[in-house]
Amino acid sequence: MKLKTDKSKKLWNYSLKHLAGGVNSPVRAFNAVGGTPLFIKEAKGSRLKDVDGNSYVDYVTSWGVMILGHADPDIQKAITGAIGKGTSYGAPTEAEAVLAEMIKKALPSIQKLRFVSSGTEAVMSAIRLARGYTGRDKIVKFTGCYHGHADSLLVKAGSGAATFGSPSSPGVPAAFARNTVSLEYNDIEGFRAYMKRSGKEVACVIVEPVAANMGLMLPEPGFLAALRKTCTATGALLIFDEVITGFRVGFGGAQGLYGIKPDLTTLGKIIGGGLPVGAYGGGKKIMKHLSPAGKVYQAGTLSGNPLAMAAGCAAIKKLSKPGVYKQLEASGQAMEKGLRLIIREGNLPLTLNRVGSLFTLFFSKGPLKDWTGAAGCDTKRYADYFWAMAERGVYLPPSQFETCFISTAHKPADIEATLKAAEQALLL
Ligand SMILES: *Cc1c(COP(=O)(O)O)cnc(C)c1O
Repeated sequence: MKLKTDKSKKLWNYSLKHLAGGVNSPVRAFNAVGGTPLFIKEAKGSRLKDVDGNSYVDYVTSWGVMILGHADPDIQKAITGAIGKGTSYGAPTEAEAVLAEMIKKALPSIQKLRFVSSGTEAVMSAIRLARGYTGRDKIVKFTGCYHGHADSLLVKAGSGAATFGSPSSPGVPAAFARNTVSLEYNDIEGFRAYMKRSGKEVACVIVEPVAANMGLMLPEPGFLAALRKTCTATGALLIFDEVITGFRVGFGGAQGLYGIKPDLTTLGKIIGGGLPVGAYGGGKKIMKHLSPAGKVYQAGTLSGNPLAMAAGCAAIKKLSKPGVYKQLEASGQAMEKGLRLIIREGNLPLTLNRVGSLFTLFFSKGPLKDWTGAAGCDTKRYADYFWAMAERGVYLPPSQFETCFISTAHKPADIEATLKAAEQALLL
């Protein structure tokens, strides 16, 4: 079997002439799986169609953004309704407060929030606020967690940075990196030991409460609770980066699922309904330090953009309906059950991690719970698996170090077709 990619190849050569590296975000270049990136023509529901006419069940779903599937009619209606009234004013609108209120209802740790235009911007701003609030400079993160591409965070970051083997990037001043400490995910003792020594200098501890940028790693029992307890004891703020997990692992995000209350939360992806949005928020006592009420500066020309707010409101409204997360869990369970069966049948050295509608099949015997584990995967075999699945009509993330996302538009027939493809790709 061979995938037809003539038109994608043509567009790739065209893009390479005009875009840096041919893309606007590194993982799209397919460096980790080789071959030509597939150029997408259109998408609907659970499916992507590329320019050569190939159709795929999509497990990237814009990196989790499209939790309701592509081209959702309610989101489309909201966007077209807003578009006729102008697309940006640089002045306040009602929709911004409406979406903020909806988010607060889902995530009670947030009393005030601010919208920005991307997850990166949300994290960068939350960290500035944490530093401004505490008067401390150091930040603690966990290796393999990705928090966007801001300077202080590009230290042992996962995702694209991991895929490209550049855990920190040229252009990040050493002085910045010195204030960032990266510890092993799920290593409670290592964390406690560091905080015992230096906790009083730490402005914030930032974590993906479920790590989804080194493939999927679940927090071990007690890990998040230990972060909470130690942060409270040392006066460091605990930031949950819920850019992926917010409105994904449950309507209340990972903080709702695991019952841990962070001081600040960063959001993105899902809350924009497919348009560019980020947000960060927390208790009033911290958020009041943000300009114009306080002295920590942060601003944005397109922040709270009316189209993005309309799309976000439509998405959150739909996600608040009963049964949504039950359906996502059921789809995740069906996928897990099927994949485990294949692993057992072939006695394959693979590990499956899953929570709700997030999962990663790792090419390693496992169990896997941190970056050291992820880094031991057979990425060459993953690349073969990626292409074998693409040929069979399934679009997976083009890197072992990314997570698969199921949407509400993925029906049992999609999951079955995917499992059939996986059986052939893994066992034949
Ligand atoms: C995607 C992501 C970001 C960055 O968001 P962008 O919108 O890509 O800037 C930050 N944190 C996490 C956990 C993410 O998954």
